[in-house]
Amino acid sequence: MSETADPVDMLERELTVLAFELTTPRPAECVFCYVDRMLEEFGCDNTLRWAAQWRGMRAPRATALEARLAQRGGYCDCEIFLNGWAPSAGAVVYDEESDEWRWRAPRPSCCGVRRGSSQPCALWMPLRRPRW
Ligand SMILES: [Zn+2]
Ligand SMILES: [Zn+2]
Repeated sequence: MSETADPVDMLERELTVLAFELTTPRPAECVFCYVDRMLEEFGCDNTLRWAAQWRGMRAPRATALEARLAQRGGYCDCEIFLNGWAPSAGAVVYDEESDEWRWRAPRPSCCGVRRGSSQPCALWMPLRRPRW
């Protein structure tokens, strides 16, 4: 490290590393757990950017992924969970105060999927009807 290292530069570099770590899928993490985690941190930008990010890093050959998500109404990252898939029953609890289903605490971590698989792990199930 040189004596003249600019602290702003260093901070920027650290933030870049941090952002990279935050947005890298965990080992064996399924696309659904990953997208759900990213939505909590960064929200939806009305595209399938997190699903596409996951695919690029974990399953570049799963080229049908976006089409499969769209088939169930997932035209952007948050719609995947509004229309297509929901956490399976054992993974959530009903919160009377907010009248909403929430993840069991602590939030269950991904059960893991085979490398290159774009299937959801056991935490997710397809929705028959919109919303729970
Ligand atoms: Zn969205
Ligand atoms: Zn998962």
